[in-house]
Amino acid sequence: MKKLNRRQFLGSTAALVVLTPSIFVAGRSSAGGHLPKVDPNDPQAKALSYVRESPKADNICANCQLYTGSADASWGPCAIFPNKEVAAGGWCSAWVKKAG
Ligand code: SF4
Repeated sequence: MKKLNRRQFLGSTAALVVLTPSIFVAGRSSAGGHLPKVDPNDPQAKALSYVRESPKADNICANCQLYTGSADASWGPCAIFPNKEVAAGGWCSAWVKKAG
């Protein structure tokens, strides 16, 4: 095994200290932290007729199978729009009733 001299050791330790917070930030955003909201004017959102306020009272993102936000959140992730959040009270044409 190669021995590190003091300069090499301090350099690798400094890199670890600098990179560690960015790893935590990346992990938090992918776990549903503060993702950007889906813009209803995005081409994909338009293609699916996504709206932030559902015209159908019983069909909203919060009770859609593809919604993974918490029950009390007003925004949450959706499998159709990766790395973005949809409105809990929104809707799109891909809506599927949540099982259970
Ligand atoms: S698939 Fe459509 S209705 Fe279902 S959570 Fe996503 S945006 Fe809302």
